[in-house]
Order: sequence, then C-alpha cells, then structure tokens
Amino acid sequence: MSVVIPMYNEEEVLPALVSRLRPVLAELGVPYEVVAVDDGSTDRTAELLAAFRLGWPQLRVIGLRRNSGHQAALTAGLDRALGAYVVSLDADLQDPPEKIPDMLALARGEGLDIVYGIRADRASDTGFKRWTAGLYYRLVRRLAGPSVPAQAGDFRLLSRAAVDALKSLPDQQRVYRLLVPWLGFPSGRVTYERAPRPAGRSKYPLGRMIRLAVDSVTGFSAAPLRIATWLGGFSFLVCLGLMVYTLSAHALDHTVAGWTSLFTGVLFIGAVQLICVGLLGEYVGRIYTAVQNRPTYFVGHDTAVSPHSEALADTADTADTADTADTPATHESSLRG
Ligand code: UDP
Ligand code: MG
Repeated sequence: MSVVIPMYNEEEVLPALVSRLRPVLAELGVPYEVVAVDDGSTDRTAELLAAFRLGWPQLRVIGLRRNSGHQAALTAGLDRALGAYVVSLDADLQDPPEKIPDMLALARGEGLDIVYGIRADRASDTGFKRWTAGLYYRLVRRLAGPSVPAQAGDFRLLSRAAVDALKSLPDQQRVYRLLVPWLGFPSGRVTYERAPRPAGRSKYPLGRMIRLAVDSVTGFSAAPLRIATWLGGFSFLVCLGLMVYTLSAHALDHTVAGWTSLFTGVLFIGAVQLICVGLLGEYVGRIYTAVQNRPTYFVGHDTAVSPHSEALADTADTADTADTADTPATHESSLRG
C-alpha cells in the first residue's frame, strides 16, 4: 500500500498529519510506504520530513526541484509509488486518514479498482468555496459526463491497474478528478466529512481554482468551441432581420443617422469574435504544450532511489558509512514488511 501526499509549505500541519496517519497505517496490517511529495516548499517542510524519516522508515520523501502545482506533485507521487494499492491524500488533514482502512476493505472485498472519497459535508468550507465548488462539479459533470462523481476531490484509492493506466496516458495538464472517472474501472465510494484545515493556509487561491476549472473543461470537452458556431448562427439570423429592416427603410426613404445602432453592432461583433478567438486560443495552447511535451515536474531527490545512496551501495564493502536505509532494496523490503 502506498499513500501519496503532495505537500507545499505544510510545516504547520505536518506533525499533526504524522501523528494521525501513522497509527492508522500501522493498524492496517499490510506493508506500506508513505510517499510525501515535497512540491518545492520554501518553508521547513523538507527539514521536518527528513526528521520524521529518522523514526519512520516507511516514510519516503520525493523532493521536487520547484513548485509544480498540486496535480503535478500528485503525478510525481503516482509515477513512483510502488504499492499494489495507492491512496492519494491532502496533507492538510481535510481528508481524514481514518477512512483509508474502509477504502482498502471495500476495494479488496469487492475487487474494485477505484474507491472515491466523497465529501458528504463541506460545512467547514467557506460559503464562497462551496458555491464555486458546486458550480465546478455541475459544469464538469455536464461536459465530461455523469460518471464524474460530484464532490469527489483528490482523496481516493487506486489499484495498481488503475495507476498503471493513468501512467500510460499522454495527458500533460492532468486533472485527476476527471481522468480517474474517465478510466471507467469498477469503482466504489466512501463518504466523509470535510474537516476544516487545522493549520496553515489554503494553497489554492482563486487564480489556481480558475486554472483547474479551465484545464478540466478544455481537457475533456470541445463543447466551448461550438459556442462560436452558435453565436455565429445567432448573429446571422439577427443580421438577416436587420437587413430586411434597413433595406425597407432605405426604400421608404426613412434612413436615420444610425450612430447608436452601428456602434453597438460593431462592439457586439468585436466582443463575440474576441471571445471565440480566446476560446480557440485555449485549445491551441493545449495542443502547443502537448507538442512541446515538457515534463510537468522535476524530481530533485527520492529517498527510495537516490543516485547518491546507490553510489554508496556500490562501494558498500569499502565504505561502511553507507546509509543502507536509503538503498532501493531496503526500501522495498521495508515496504514488504
Ligand atoms: N499543494 C501542492 N502544491 C501546490 C499547492 C498545493 O502540493 O502548489 C498541496 C497542498 O499542500 C495540499 C493539497 O495540495 O496537500 C491541497 O491543497 P490545499 O489544501 O491548499 O487546497 P484546498 O483544500 O484549499 O482546496
Ligand atoms: Mg485543503
């Protein structure tokens, strides 16, 4: 079992996270690893993780070279997790780790590949967050299909098959809450109450929320491109009506100065065209990034497979200072128990 936790500047919640997560995993009765993905934190997150690792060998730390964003950090964790089941969890304890055993039991009992964590109660979120989230889920369910469970964030369990399927996708700007339902693998649900953040601040300001929404829509549907067609058709009909009107006014010699109507017409068509070009631009931008095919994250170090520890392991018989706890072999055997 792997538990992937992306974290960015989470020094304040980290101790609470460890003290709640560790007993849950210890009682699970299966070998596990915790994959903490440090998303280029600038606070003491990395330092704290290193300290926790001393007393918790199952804690594995993947350090990204720079802040790459929540979904990219999640990708890094999923790409490198070793478990037969992989749970993804937010670092801020808004997703209760106590639900992990339920998820695992459900997946194993019914042979499921995906178990979604569904937020039954968001009372702890701000009114604005709930309203925008409601809007977001309604929009993506319309565009990406009803297989997308409403109120399912990034707290979920995936089987090895599902993780491998996700890894094989070529998508760049990934939105896992849509990609996972798109897989269509057998799935189940576990509901939970979304707790307030015990410490630290949200790392999702409005700008990032909008980015996630735009990525969700453009990644799953070409429907916005059709808006241009509909607006064009509508404008054409209006234009036909106005043509009859202006021609008859001309014939009857009733022509007027027409400054207001001309001005409004020009502005309206200009705005519609700019919106349509902008929409087109979103898709061209996606094609551009896809063609560039740049990696979305860079791994600085991975405590399970650091080249440093491998080099030491190669010369282990001569260098007795080798930190053998860092070699991949030991990590995997600690995973096995
Ligand atoms: N996160 C991250 N990189 C970022 C932003 C956020 O890894 O650039 C992590 C963050 O540490 C947390 C998770 O993503 O574990 C969700 O972020 P947050 O709780 O701030 O989002 P919210 O719950 O407010 O939507
Ligand atoms: Mg949060």
